[in-house]
Amino acid sequence: MTKKAGFFNLSINKILSNDQSILDQARIRLLYYGLGLVFIAIAALLSNLYYQDQPILTIMAGALLIASVMFFKLLTYKPRWKFISHGLLVLATIVNLGDVYLIFQTVNIITVQMVILVIIFSFYMLGQAYGLFYSIINLGIVLVFLTLQYNSPYVIQLKPEQVDQSTVIIAIFANFLLLMYIHGHFSNAFYKNIKQLKKTSDDQGDLNIKLENAIEKAEKSSQAKSEFLATMSHEVRTPLNAVIGMSNLLLMSNPRNDQKENLEILKFSASNLLAIVNDVLDFNKIESGRVVFENTSFNLVELMQNVCGAQKIKAKEKALTFSLDIDSALNEKILFGDPTRITQIIFNLVSNAIKFTKQGNIWVKATCLEDRHNTLTVNFSVKDTGIGIAPDNLDTIFEPFAQESITSTRQYGGTGLGLAIIKRLLELQGLKMDVHSKIGQGSEFSFTMEFPVSTEIHALETEAEPAIKAKNNLSNLRVLIAEDNMVNVMLMKKLFSKWNMTPTIAENGESAIQMVQYGNFDIILMDLQMPVLNGFDAAMEIRKMPDTKKANIPIIALTASALFDIRERVFNSGMNDYVSKPFKPEDLLQKIQNLVMLA
Ligand code: ADP
Repeated sequence: MTKKAGFFNLSINKILSNDQSILDQARIRLLYYGLGLVFIAIAALLSNLYYQDQPILTIMAGALLIASVMFFKLLTYKPRWKFISHGLLVLATIVNLGDVYLIFQTVNIITVQMVILVIIFSFYMLGQAYGLFYSIINLGIVLVFLTLQYNSPYVIQLKPEQVDQSTVIIAIFANFLLLMYIHGHFSNAFYKNIKQLKKTSDDQGDLNIKLENAIEKAEKSSQAKSEFLATMSHEVRTPLNAVIGMSNLLLMSNPRNDQKENLEILKFSASNLLAIVNDVLDFNKIESGRVVFENTSFNLVELMQNVCGAQKIKAKEKALTFSLDIDSALNEKILFGDPTRITQIIFNLVSNAIKFTKQGNIWVKATCLEDRHNTLTVNFSVKDTGIGIAPDNLDTIFEPFAQESITSTRQYGGTGLGLAIIKRLLELQGLKMDVHSKIGQGSEFSFTMEFPVSTEIHALETEAEPAIKAKNNLSNLRVLIAEDNMVNVMLMKKLFSKWNMTPTIAENGESAIQMVQYGNFDIILMDLQMPVLNGFDAAMEIRKMPDTKKANIPIIALTASALFDIRERVFNSGMNDYVSKPFKPEDLLQKIQNLVMLA
């Protein structure tokens, strides 16, 4: 910051500040000490001229002395170096003009020195444009004079002044001193600047190295966090699977009514916990930028009906009216997009609507806004007559782990991750969620998405009848289960015994391959994370078997850890389908039946 220099200030420190560049500081210093030198030189000339009885030159020197004092005062009061430099250059130009055409009426060494001084001083102080300007004017003065003199002797009424040699010596000496000073000062500032630049670039280099290290560290720690979460999720999900699976088994074995109620609570709590683990994992995945959106064909009407099917029952349990309104323009259209993520978004919005509504209605709408040749623009909206959200909280509810109030957590549960996940999923696709809400009246969440449309005509598939037909003789089915976790093995065995089947167990991928080689199976259920050889590699090995019958055995993957990106890996490794643990027993049965029927 510039320190406040008072009118009587004479110190250079008060007019220099760190806000000024090194070059500007050097310019101010040059003026400060340069004006000092000029003052001494003119004072010497003045006394010399005075003793020689040269009244005109003495007055001129006196005027210059006063001017130099005034410029010095201005500089030490306000360091307006540009203005002062212009002033000094104009003064020097006038002195030159007077010297050449009036006082000496010749171009002598002092004039040459003055021109050089002007050139150096103007370029250094004011840059190229003004440097050229003042240089040309001063050179012009000399050149015009020399040309005039060359053609015919230059004659003017005034007689030239005759000065003593001592005056010439003082002037020449002072001018040389000034030239040396300007040069010395300039080169000093130049080297200082270069040194500073080098230091800055060295500092920058150090900073870059530090930054790179910090980024590497952050990446490593984020990777470690992701890995930790993935491992934890597997570890947490495995026992949870067992709890949910066992609850399912017990529920299937005709429990008493009071037992049934307890079992339902047990299953509900475990499923809730699982949903939380899934949310945390999913959020972690989105945050670390590992989300890849699918681009598969799907029917939006079916998707909406599937998502809302189970939700309708929940709404009914709370005596809420549930209406699903799908634009007829979407009927029989095959769209391309990521059905899993759309399901996730709609499911979350509808769950929230039901969760935060005590009475009234839930409306779910999919409206076709535009139907161009091969693109559909669809607006999704989920509206409720629930508790509503305060205007101040409309942004915060999209923050991770944010709930509208602490009472929300106590009253309604949840992690506060659902909307954060939705928001990020939409943002990653360049989309935005709109919210309109009024406390006590309800909320509406909506967003608009574009889908490429398939040109194939879609015939709505009829419900999977084959599975129902096939219920007949499953007891003869030879099932191989590759699973390393003993609790899961026990669970599977019990589940299959309900369906009158006795599965064979392989404790890892490698022994599964051996068993397929030496035994005969109709279907394989393959856990993905196993010691020795994992499920993906084992499936790939089986698909490579020379016996085509064995190489084509239907394989269903049993996944526990990953959430949404597993699908592609499962199909890429040659498996036919997958179920996520904990699965609903009937879903697994359905998938087994479908594949066995096709085989
Ligand atoms: P969670 O539902 O797990 O708390 P969300 O991220 O889905 O987390 O929602 C964050 C918060 O937004 C909720 O806790 C709730 O306060 C508010 N909210 C979300 N949807 C609604 C809704 N339909 N009506 C009222 N409040 C809502």
